[in-house]
Amino acid sequence: MARNIVSAAVVAFLIPLTSSFAQQAPPARELGIKYMRDSQEYGTLARQVYRLASEAAVRGAEEGLRGLWAVVLDVDETALDNSAYQLERAAYGQPYDSASWAAWVERREAGAVPGVADFIALVRKAGGRVAWISNRDARLTEPTRANLEAVGLWAASDRLCLQKSSQHTKADRRREVITGAGECAWSSSPMRVVAFVGDQMGDFPGAVEQIPQTGSDAAFGRVCFLLPNSMYGAWTTSVTRVPGVR
Ligand SMILES: [Mg+2]
Repeated sequence: MARNIVSAAVVAFLIPLTSSFAQQAPPARELGIKYMRDSQEYGTLARQVYRLASEAAVRGAEEGLRGLWAVVLDVDETALDNSAYQLERAAYGQPYDSASWAAWVERREAGAVPGVADFIALVRKAGGRVAWISNRDARLTEPTRANLEAVGLWAASDRLCLQKSSQHTKADRRREVITGAGECAWSSSPMRVVAFVGDQMGDFPGAVEQIPQTGSDAAFGRVCFLLPNSMYGAWTTSVTRVPGVR
């Protein structure tokens, strides 16, 4: 009887401890990773964004008689899911660094972001081209291409424009795609871009680029399609909200 009383007392003492442990949220970094890896909300949001982008591609195809058209996508956390890399770094208590990042890219193990495969398949079927514009180091072009291929996102007609130098900005590369002149262009083939997809504001044309129907908050959901990224980005250290727009 005495033993039972002691056991009951121990259990009564432990229950609040274990339940408070179970309810304790992970630290912010892990929480941001968990949201993208585990939450139903993230997957649903990503597919929602790509469904909207697909409607833009369908409109682009319907207007196809006006010339060639393309979609422009960022790579990381837009097409490829690098949350496994983030999780590994967090497990070891290590920050991002370029050496571990390059090693991760060489592994070619990133999965596809939810919704992107269906979107790309629709674009190709509708006759559109695909340009991947990323600030991954240009020396990582081949493993990046191979990873895109491994998850079914790559076609030989695609353009993959990584960063050769900090001077060769994403804005420069967007202009090359649109004008048909430059390394990222389909040679001598100016492109009408019907959708820009990314997870950071820098993935989208600014007003200064003077690309029709872009450069403002109103472009989002029509020509520009923004995916959530709770793991990293300029938002962690600066305010990126458009003044006057919440
Ligand atoms: Mg990205």
